[in-house]
Amino acid sequence: MSGERNWAENLVYRAERVVRPRTIDELREVLASGGPVRALGTRHCFNDIADTTGTLISLADMPREIEVSGDTVRVAGGVRYGDLAPVLEENGRALATLASLPHISVAGAVATGTHGSGDRVPSLSAAVRSVTLVTPGGDDVTLTRDDADFGGAVVHLGALGIVTALELDTEPSYEVAQYAFDAPRWDEILADYDAVTSLGDSVSIFTTWRDPQAADQLWVKRRVRPGGDEIDDSIISRLGARAADGPRHPIPGVDAEACNAQGGVPGPWFERLPHFRMDFTPSVGAELQSEFFVARADAPAAIEAVRGIAGVVSPLLHVCEIRSISADDLWLSPSSGRDSVALHFTWRLDEPAVRAALPTLEKALAPFDVRPHWGKIFTMPGEEVAARYPRWHDFRALRARLDPMDRLQNAYTRRLEL
Ligand SMILES: Cc1cc2nc3c(=O)[nH]c(=O)nc-3n(C[C@H](O)[C@H](O)[C@H](O)COP(=O)(O)OP(=O)(O)OC[C@H]3O[C@@H](n4cnc5c(N)ncnc54)[C@H](O)[C@@H]3O)c2cc1C
Repeated sequence: MSGERNWAENLVYRAERVVRPRTIDELREVLASGGPVRALGTRHCFNDIADTTGTLISLADMPREIEVSGDTVRVAGGVRYGDLAPVLEENGRALATLASLPHISVAGAVATGTHGSGDRVPSLSAAVRSVTLVTPGGDDVTLTRDDADFGGAVVHLGALGIVTALELDTEPSYEVAQYAFDAPRWDEILADYDAVTSLGDSVSIFTTWRDPQAADQLWVKRRVRPGGDEIDDSIISRLGARAADGPRHPIPGVDAEACNAQGGVPGPWFERLPHFRMDFTPSVGAELQSEFFVARADAPAAIEAVRGIAGVVSPLLHVCEIRSISADDLWLSPSSGRDSVALHFTWRLDEPAVRAALPTLEKALAPFDVRPHWGKIFTMPGEEVAARYPRWHDFRALRARLDPMDRLQNAYTRRLEL
């Protein structure tokens, strides 16, 4: 065993070895040596999705090429969002959305349907225009939006091949200002949920569920538009929320030094959309995460369902974050085919206790056809997860075609019966 761990250190990879090819030819040699394989990104998943019993392949030592051209950028398989964003900015370009942290690899993030927040903003995966991968058999495959199988090739759970390049949509660079508010009232949030999420381009509600009357914080990120309007104060006052009197961290009591500037100070998109700054540990570090997606229309009822079991989840939580993601058409995207709201749980680092509580949480959310985040901890049985995806069988067929020897299959994909 390699003994190497994921970012949260809750998982020791079972892989025999981790290899770091420096060129595509070296990557091909690794693949030609046979046995189970998997690509490893920046290790930010909390479950065994990235694991294998054979060889883990990290592309971190391959050239991190980034080519900006028109409204597209082409990135190599080892590039992280934190590498990409400043290069885009130098070229006057931007991405439509980012996750809460820039530390993650583009290839690993889009493979799991990673998302930020926004009523009109789909997942990071939806920006992908083309995927280039090397199959375990050594074939080069590029799929673009014109291909019938493209919908299966972006959110692929690492099960199709080793992605060596991706092309992404870009748009003109923009500035964002973010604002934090304390203690928005639940009754008002639930009475008009759309009014809350429309306060900005990206909105997050943070809660520990400890106060039955109010969530802990509301973060609003707004693009700075020439002559643009201000935050609708009437909604803020209806929520009973107060403007934060200083910088906030999502987790109550944690120093906000790791967070990007708040207080309405405008800044480049990539220094406002993620909550956390590249040079700092994001979130708390000693943590686990789970996340569940419901249809947007079900969000108030799903929030009520979690409030109803606050006594089960709250003692295990650092914080919960609620975000919106608009629909995409990628087969295995958790927001595929439906505008969604994701309820995210940053747990304390006590995996047995979290796993013991998850069935209660998943049962509470079951009436809403929940889809779990692929990279976080869930206990729902594979067949239940599969039933949530109308194109599941198409993905299985694509997987079997690109990896007929099942070399990319691992314990995670077997639990899902992929
Ligand atoms: C502190 C923290 C905050 C987070 N915030 C968010 C958030 O805001 N929104 C959200 O949606 N998620 C969030 N996540 C989850 C994270 O975005 C996902 O787990 C993401 O998949 C991590 O990417 P990675 O490169 O670290 O993946 P890894 O864990 O290394 O790998 C993930 C999957 O991608 C595959 N993969 C990686 N690289 C390649 C490649 N080159 N070719 C083929 N397959 C590949 C792996 O085999 C594996 O199946 C957060 C995680 C952490 C730790």
